[in-house]
Order: sequence, then C-alpha cells, then structure tokens
Amino acid sequence: MKLDYLRVSITDRCNLNCIYCRPRENVKLLQREELLRFEEIIKFVKLMLPRGLEKVRITGGEPLVRKDVIKLIGMIASIKQIKSITLTTNGVMLERFALDLKKAGLHRVNVSLDTLSREKFKMITGYDGLLRVLRGIKVARKVGLEPLKINTVVLRGINDTETLDFVNFAKDNSLVVRFIEYMPINGRGMNRWYVSNQVIKKIIEKKWGMLQPDFFPGNGPAEYFKLKNSDTVLGFISPISKPFCQNCSKLRLSADGKLKPCLASNYEIDIKNVLRKDNTENEFNKVIKLVLDFKEKRRKISPDFNTSGRFMFQIGG
Ligand code: SAM
Repeated sequence: MKLDYLRVSITDRCNLNCIYCRPRENVKLLQREELLRFEEIIKFVKLMLPRGLEKVRITGGEPLVRKDVIKLIGMIASIKQIKSITLTTNGVMLERFALDLKKAGLHRVNVSLDTLSREKFKMITGYDGLLRVLRGIKVARKVGLEPLKINTVVLRGINDTETLDFVNFAKDNSLVVRFIEYMPINGRGMNRWYVSNQVIKKIIEKKWGMLQPDFFPGNGPAEYFKLKNSDTVLGFISPISKPFCQNCSKLRLSADGKLKPCLASNYEIDIKNVLRKDNTENEFNKVIKLVLDFKEKRRKISPDFNTSGRFMFQIGG
C-alpha cells in the first residue's frame, strides 16, 4: 500500500475553543519539549518518501499559533518529491499570515468555519472572530492560496439551520463549501450533535434540485457535487453515514510524535524516540510495517470512534 498522504499536527494549542472539539475541562496541553522539532518532522517526511509520500497537510490545534510555522512550510516545500503542501486553519490568523505562507511555498488552505452568524461563532468558539476569519479568507484567496475550501461541521441544534446559508455563501463567493459529519470522538456528542450528510443533501436538493456529481481535486474522502445549472461546487465528507476506510491511505503524525494510522482507533505508535536516534532506518521500517499491517486489517472493520483516547485538537483534524 502506498502511504501518499500525511497530516502533521504541529501543536495541540488553539486560539479557539470549539465546544465539540476540545472539552472545556481537564485539558492537559503539551509542553514545548514534548513537541516534535521541525528537524524531526522533516526527517520523518524524508523517511516516508520511498513509501510514496507526496502530499503533506499541516494542522493542529491551530497550526498558525506555532512559532516559525512559515519556516516549516519552507522546509517542506524544498523537498522536491512533495507535490502538495496544504494547511488546515480556523482562519483567525490568516489575514496576517497568508502572504508569507504563499511565499514559503504553501499551495492551499482549508478554512474551518461552522457558522456565518457572529453570535453563533462566539457561542461555538468562545471568541468573537467571524469577521476576522472572513477577512482572512479574502486575503488568502487574493494571494493565490486557491482553491480555498471551507470545512463546515454540521451540529444538530447549533448550525444545522444554516445549510442553505452556506450554499449561498459558496455561490456568492465562488468558494467550495464542504459539509462534514460530526464524529463522536471518545463517544462524545453522537446523540447531541450528529447530523447525517444525507439529511443535509436532501435540504439542499429540496431547494436547488438534484445535485450533479462532480470531480474536484483534493486528497481526501470528500464527494463533490455541483448545483444544477451552476458552477458552485459542494463537498460532503461523511465518515459516519458513508465510511471511507477502504480508500484511506492517510497517516497522521501528532504534535508529540505519535503515528496514527486511523482516526477512529486508539492505536498509535511512538515515533519521536525513533526520530531522536541517529541510526533510524531499521526501527523506522519496523514501525511502518506495523502501521501497514494495521491499515490492511482495519480496512475490514467499520469505524467506531468510541475509544480514540485523544480529541481532535490533540490528534490533528
Ligand atoms: N485549528 C485548525 C482548524 O480549525 O481547521 C485545525 C485543527 S481542527 C482540530 C481540524 C478540523 O477538525 C476542524 O475543521 C474541526 O471542525 C474538525 N473537528 C474537530 N472535532 C471534530 C469532530 N468531533 N468531528 C468532526 N470534525 C471535527
């Protein structure tokens, strides 16, 4: 199996506090010395090249709060086998960083945005930041971090009434909006927040007519559609109602150096200690073999998010 796609979390810290992503209590954040250093991340990326690695996505926590993130992007961009470097952000610091990210070699950004209401934004994230995020999106597009995708996690009773607003937002701004199903990480929130994307699709089709299947470039499991008689592209990522384990070639590297072959499982292997040694190759190969074995077997199991241990801000969403 080719492991062509790596998501690297570079911090568990975040400047937002989204109700469904990070519990409000008993959160233990990593200390600086626990984080993988940039050199170790680069070492890992290079060791993965013979395994087929071509695409790297930087995430967190909020990746733009890690000092010198621009330097890391430049370091990855200088590896010629890496064809795609992207970043997932909440957009709060994008206005400030977009140009430097682009100059450093970043190709695209995905911006997580769950509501278009200023009040609701504050309620979900604990911060009155909607206008800042919208400005960040504008600047990112202006400097060429395109196509820019908006990721919207639909939460029952919170933003599920905004589906058509998001369609209009996509249409008015020629943006791709992707609706993401809430995942009950650690068994949390399934009854409270989960809404199936099949419901969201029906709401859209009732208003706009049948969605037309479409292809849109990307690395992940999104299904894309166009609105009838329009160029507006919408995406659906449906890990619960339409699991995509069969096609998953993704690996996650957490900020503290844990390698995670599957988001839905608590299985992870420490790679930090391997990366901190001089002669790494043999041990690294052993770890990769474990990861591949796991991925082959896991493909036959349906996802169950009940035991993942860490939350999204700690895994790297
Ligand atoms: N701070 C960055 C951001 O906001 O995009 C990157 C990290 S954040 C953990 C990545 C994504 O994970 C966000 O789009 C967030 O909405 C999503 N996320 C967090 N918890 C989730 C859950 N339980 N189910 C689905 N998506 C989740």
